Amino acid sequence: MTPRTEKTAPPALEPEHFRRLAHDAVDLVADYLGGVGALPVFRPMTPAERTTLMQEPLGAVGVGPEAVLERFRTAILPHAMGNGHPRFFGWVNSPPAPIGVVADFLAAALNPSCAGGDHAAIYVERAAVRWLMELIGFPTEGSMGLLVSGGSAATLVALTAARHRAAAEDGWNVRTEGLQHGHPVLRLYVSPDGHSCIQKAAEILGLGAQAMHKVATDENDRIDVGSLRAAVAADRAAGMRPFGVAASAGTVGTGAIDPLGEIADLCAAERLWLHVDGAYGAVGAALPTHRARYAGLERADSIALDPHKWLSVPVECGAVLVRDGWLLRETFSLVPDYLRTQADRGFGGLPWYSEYGIQQTRGFRALKLWMTLQHMGRDGVRDLIERHLGLAQHLAELVDAAPDLERLGHVELSIVCFRYVPADLKGDGRALDALNKRVMEEVQASGAAFLTQTTRRGCFALRACVLHYATTESDLVALLDTVRKTGERLAAES
Ligand SMILES: *Cc1c(COP(=O)(O)O)cnc(C)c1O
Repeated sequence: MTPRTEKTAPPALEPEHFRRLAHDAVDLVADYLGGVGALPVFRPMTPAERTTLMQEPLGAVGVGPEAVLERFRTAILPHAMGNGHPRFFGWVNSPPAPIGVVADFLAAALNPSCAGGDHAAIYVERAAVRWLMELIGFPTEGSMGLLVSGGSAATLVALTAARHRAAAEDGWNVRTEGLQHGHPVLRLYVSPDGHSCIQKAAEILGLGAQAMHKVATDENDRIDVGSLRAAVAADRAAGMRPFGVAASAGTVGTGAIDPLGEIADLCAAERLWLHVDGAYGAVGAALPTHRARYAGLERADSIALDPHKWLSVPVECGAVLVRDGWLLRETFSLVPDYLRTQADRGFGGLPWYSEYGIQQTRGFRALKLWMTLQHMGRDGVRDLIERHLGLAQHLAELVDAAPDLERLGHVELSIVCFRYVPADLKGDGRALDALNKRVMEEVQASGAAFLTQTTRRGCFALRACVLHYATTESDLVALLDTVRKTGERLAAES
């Protein structure tokens, strides 16, 4: 055996070998993206397939990259999550924009750390985040935004800044003191439909779940501002320290948008931080005909917005937008000596992203956002959202017209909640919950379509979220046919 040199030993790959391998991978991906609509949406894994993947030992000797790619083709590709399929309506998971797939490859090839410095990736992120702000009408002057893993990380960054500001206003520094000095209990106001990541952030920040004051919502699942005002007053009277409201611009369950303008007024009057969870729905503000529904979004202190949801940027790509860029830097900046740079000297560049958030080494997420947004243009973004809103309205009409389907609640964005109601089970809530849960599970396993669940007014609801750029009206018909056939079969069996 001839010893391999540093140029041929893995992970090195001869340039021509890399070219062939990458071309093979491109062919595989192009075939997959082009043909995914003809495949089952989802294919559950067999116990043997799961075990094989989980237990596979690492070989002592490396294998050729072709064999590794072949393993991907046979063991992984057939068991994709399903969100690339036009009949996938689960959760809030979009397909990848094809140009975003290419962008991830290009970003990996450069492999920069976007902690900061004077290299192109940094300025790409500045531009792409500014485009997001402009699309939804968030102020670009004095504000700051950065890309993170998703809405959960964005919420954590935003609420860290909110906590910092509240402490500073009360004359103490949470960065030096921590939460060890018996300050009044900080309170954050949320809707019961607010995303679980808000509570997670409160827990991580040391505020505890006790910080969460869940306020009442109206019949369309929007925060009731009267109840919010009363909650803040009651907490103040009890000696607590209200510090923020986490409102939603599109709840994950139903797409409800809280009355952001009224909440912004209250926050201004009470000096509360207004965080808007727009992980799913904030990009809907890009649509001029829908902008009025979001009035007040532009007054938020912070927004979480996930380009990896409605904008189809491949995961992971979340954004946190903060109105006061100085405050965000004050919240996070901690620059060790070895990283100290000077603007416009050497590698310096702009203030580093690592001063505005949690991460030091940061991936080149911006490239996929930058390329996807350029491919769509502003009008393309609006067109995508408008089409999805229209498809959701159409789905709601199909449900309303079906005697054996019942819509559960208002359709605000691209989410429709409903259930299967056979004539002989009308009025039997327990039986309908059980039946619809089984319908969901069987539809998921069938591969014909995919939807998930939520709870509406105590009822189990089937939940369909339209998020695929290639979904058509016939896919909606196919979804409802699958639900109905599955429901009929299960009802007949029991
Ligand atoms: C997805 C989602 C989140 C969480 O974001 P991740 O990207 O999953 O971390 C928060 N809020 C809403 C409304 C969401 O849809």
